[in-house]
Amino acid sequence: MDSILVKDKHFVPFIKAEKLKEEVKRVAAEITHDYQGKKPLFLCILNGSFIFAADLIREVDLPCEISFVKMTSYQGTGTTGKVRELIGLNVDITDRHVIIVEDIVDTGITMAHMLETLKGHNPASVDICTLLTKPDKLQVQLDIRYCCLSIPNDFIVGYGLDYDGYGRNIKDIYVIEK
Ligand code: 5GP
Ligand code: MG
Repeated sequence: MDSILVKDKHFVPFIKAEKLKEEVKRVAAEITHDYQGKKPLFLCILNGSFIFAADLIREVDLPCEISFVKMTSYQGTGTTGKVRELIGLNVDITDRHVIIVEDIVDTGITMAHMLETLKGHNPASVDICTLLTKPDKLQVQLDIRYCCLSIPNDFIVGYGLDYDGYGRNIKDIYVIEK
């Protein structure tokens, strides 16, 4: 298998860009269908979701807005269990239909933190849209309405996801070599 080196670790091919594209289109069509007559605000969690978000909103056929927040919980290949907010909410979400866009829901701690933050701002509704989930690692109860793919509990890079800052520009998703 074509193993690649990202920083100091080897990764092997896992999900092809074509497959990601297909799944992103499917989820975008679901959102377009479900949000007819509404003008959702896509709230994307940086850094990891930037490529997914860019592909997703271009497939959504609705009047919509996009904004970003920046949170971090991972260091290297593991979660620290603590969420740090690096760029906060800088848009008024009162009475807005918010769709949170995330690269991957792992323990769910970042998403739970995000939901808690948004609750205080009285949005009309909040839905979660994630490229990936690792269901075996979920530690909190989350209602994930939109999800492209579920994956096993292994560390991945590519398509916006990084290993210590590197690998976000890789088109396909790769998984750490065992
Ligand atoms: P959670 O708070 O759900 O445990 O972690 C969510 C965040 O951890 C994601 O937004 C993502 O940035 C990072 N993360 C979780 N799993 C992976 C993974 O396999 N690879 C990478 N690169 N980041 C991950
Ligand atoms: Mg993230």
